[in-house]
Amino acid sequence: MTATRTIPFARPWITDAERQAVMDVLHGDILTHGPQTKAFEQEFAQFVGGEAHCVAVSSCMGALHLAYLTLGIGPGDEVLVPAQTHVATVHAVEAVGAKPVFVDCRPDTGNMDTDKLESLITERTRAIGLVHFLGIPCEMDPIMAVAARHGLRVIEDCALAVGARYKGQHVSVIGDAGCFSFYPVKHITTAEGGMFVSRHKEIAEKAAKVRGFGVDRSFAQRAAFGMYDVTCWGLNYRMSEVNAALGRVQLSRVGEILDRRRSNFLALKEALSGQPHMHILDSPHKDVENSHYCLSVVLAGPLAGRRDELTIKLKEVGVGVSVYYPQPVPRMSYYREKYGYDALAYPCAVDISDHSIALPVGPHLTGNDVRYVVDAFLSTIREVAS
Ligand SMILES: *Cc1c(COP(=O)(O)O)cnc(C)c1O
Repeated sequence: MTATRTIPFARPWITDAERQAVMDVLHGDILTHGPQTKAFEQEFAQFVGGEAHCVAVSSCMGALHLAYLTLGIGPGDEVLVPAQTHVATVHAVEAVGAKPVFVDCRPDTGNMDTDKLESLITERTRAIGLVHFLGIPCEMDPIMAVAARHGLRVIEDCALAVGARYKGQHVSVIGDAGCFSFYPVKHITTAEGGMFVSRHKEIAEKAAKVRGFGVDRSFAQRAAFGMYDVTCWGLNYRMSEVNAALGRVQLSRVGEILDRRRSNFLALKEALSGQPHMHILDSPHKDVENSHYCLSVVLAGPLAGRRDELTIKLKEVGVGVSVYYPQPVPRMSYYREKYGYDALAYPCAVDISDHSIALPVGPHLTGNDVRYVVDAFLSTIREVAS
């Protein structure tokens, strides 16, 4: 096959409306602590629905850190985390001095294997730090049941889950806290940014305070310059007005963004279904909504060992592919050296890391792009398999 297109794996989708919103902020005097951030928080809460209280922050990593801090997790505590995830999910546990305990994932969805949770719970376990893997919602009912039985907090990493729903409920307000990312290649972007969400008002208020140095009143609430007290330890995880203005326009377009992702995902999935030696990660349940970050194909049999070759060949014909994630977190040097690594403990996480390939489904792909990705993928597979 010869390359006739170049399709990046992901690309931020910025329109003139976003550019205008950013310029409007830059024409004013308020660059942080302002009305854009407030409005973005309110609009995001409306989008999530339920009892969402939102705190805009500078990254998802920051939101995750705030989640563990405000839920009182710290040294001596253990947190169950998936072995297959972005490293931020686990770094946040380390950030408060708690110990991550890795859980293998399920082969069909890549999500944390709920059946394995209870055997890993000790008297030190305080929380479950789950991830909606690639936007596929976790099975929240059994997870919340385990949490209730053992008195555990539940932190949802929703970085790839804008638009993901479990039994009609948007993720992030099912557990105790939910954390979103607005990094450029996520569903919506603020360049850098994130959102801390909680259905507990007092947890969200605490997070808002820690986000801004532990100051007891916002800039706007001060009677005069400098009139404030510091009532707790804090950090600076604020989102600027420029980022918030960008995020508000992106959020207003989220329906269109999600529709395009869904139709690209479904078209790809249908074209690849029934192919031998591979399966596609997706939820088997009808009552959940995947937010379709990408389409991850797990290769098996004679194709399993050819993954790297496939990714190189696909790049050569202009198809941007990726791997989510190329290492299970416990195999990464920092975690391996700190906690040791048992190569047999996470067979499913290892399988996905070593044998999967993520195909693009972002809103930048047209119908013809999707057909090109299918043709490229199938012809490349025939090449490496022959
Ligand atoms: C991208 C990502 C993060 C980190 O998000 P930042 O906003 O870059 O901090 C965390 N968790 C998951 C699952 C992600 O995909």
